[in-house]
Amino acid sequence: MHTLSIYEARRGLLKKKFSSVELTKCFLDRIRRFSHLNAFITLSEEQALESAKKSDSRIALESSTGALDGIPLAIKDLFLTKGVRTTAGSKMLHNFIPPFESTVSQKLLDAGAVFLGKTNMDEFAMGSANITSHYGNVINPWSQGDKKLVPGGSSGGSAAAVAGHLCIAATGSDTGGSVRQPAAFSGIVGLKPTYGRCSRYGMVAFASSLDQAGPMTKTVRDAAIFLRVISGYDPKDSTSSAESVPDFESFVGKTVEKIKVGIPKEYYLEGMSPEIEAAWKKGMDIMRSAGAEIIEVSLPHAKYALPAYYIISPAEASANLARYDGLRYGFRAAGTKSLIEMYEKTREEGFGDEVKRRILVGTYVLSAGSYDAYYTKALQVRKLIEHDFTKSFKQVDIIMTPTTPSSAFAIGEEPQDPVSMYLNDVLTVTANMVGLPGISVPICLDKLNRPLGLQFIAPHFREDLLIQSGYILEQNANFPTLKEITI
Ligand code: GLN
Repeated sequence: MHTLSIYEARRGLLKKKFSSVELTKCFLDRIRRFSHLNAFITLSEEQALESAKKSDSRIALESSTGALDGIPLAIKDLFLTKGVRTTAGSKMLHNFIPPFESTVSQKLLDAGAVFLGKTNMDEFAMGSANITSHYGNVINPWSQGDKKLVPGGSSGGSAAAVAGHLCIAATGSDTGGSVRQPAAFSGIVGLKPTYGRCSRYGMVAFASSLDQAGPMTKTVRDAAIFLRVISGYDPKDSTSSAESVPDFESFVGKTVEKIKVGIPKEYYLEGMSPEIEAAWKKGMDIMRSAGAEIIEVSLPHAKYALPAYYIISPAEASANLARYDGLRYGFRAAGTKSLIEMYEKTREEGFGDEVKRRILVGTYVLSAGSYDAYYTKALQVRKLIEHDFTKSFKQVDIIMTPTTPSSAFAIGEEPQDPVSMYLNDVLTVTANMVGLPGISVPICLDKLNRPLGLQFIAPHFREDLLIQSGYILEQNANFPTLKEITI
């Protein structure tokens, strides 16, 4: 039962082959059995069983209309969940129980979903390996033997939970790659919608002009089903879009004949492993055989996306994280004698190293003497990258690239300096910088048996193209989904 997709589980539930309570119990058992993966920070067992029971009665009365009725999901721990602790992976929020629900999680609840619990993540979503969480590292369920692999980050707990079949699907958030990169490392599907497609209301903010919620699922079809539920205009988020929300699932199985797939030549990174190149070529062959046309495109400014991201995102983070002052909510340092000392100690003790690094960089690039040299410059670069994409999308319908420059690395063997760690996102951040939607689809295993993913990037609000192309890739890739956890 644990390997079912949303689509399959929904059919099984409606045909009464099993109940939502049975399904929920199956996952709660697995979460306990594989608790050493550390994928969850908080479990909400009682609420889960309660909502599963309600789903079962709706299904029994044939009055079940929600697209996710009775489906057990996991929620990244930066979506505020009313009455259920939400930490964002930080000590700063270790005791924070939100008084309200995020729009994305509310929409999932309205569709009948069952929440198993909150998944582990890099602190405040800053990281690419899930090794900056206050609640410990997450282990990639693909690990074998003694080598414990990272699941990617920052949505590492969600990725591990989906890949290890501890839930059917999960939410993630993607500021620079945090849905797509862990999806690639963990052999699952991760979709970052267009900026504004989903409401950011009730998501713990990292970099508000980049943050976007997205589905992490076992299949492309599931991503389509999930995306439709969480999309749509929300008056509580002024940046959410009123663009109409199509039935994304209807693009599953649609031919890609005559679709033009762009291959950005700048994405052939220096020193890129031959295995990544081979995976990319496999993707091109699949698309070509399905009738698509492969065309080289140029994104000359893409190489500046990562450095510009590491100016803009810390700048926004330094402003967003100013609210953690020990006064209003969350952690407060004990035994201080003045207000200033209380602020200082609270932030010193409450934040981890990576978060502090970002706040320092962000404060610096926004300071009077550096603002123009860094922040304004980065915004100009952002515009240039946007022009590159606008030009490319006149030539092609969609762009295909590898999702990551490598497969998952082992815990303890991760890049030691922060800048090498940041390079993990070199292929994903570009989409965030210009608000474009992207999807990562598993393509193959490398020689070490570690998953690799390919990414599609589409024009704004063309997630339909991501689903259409992603599905063709998935159906022809024959990716060997993880059957059971051996670690
Ligand atoms: N890994 C990137 C960072 O550390 C992206 C994180 C994200 O998308 N939340 O900033």
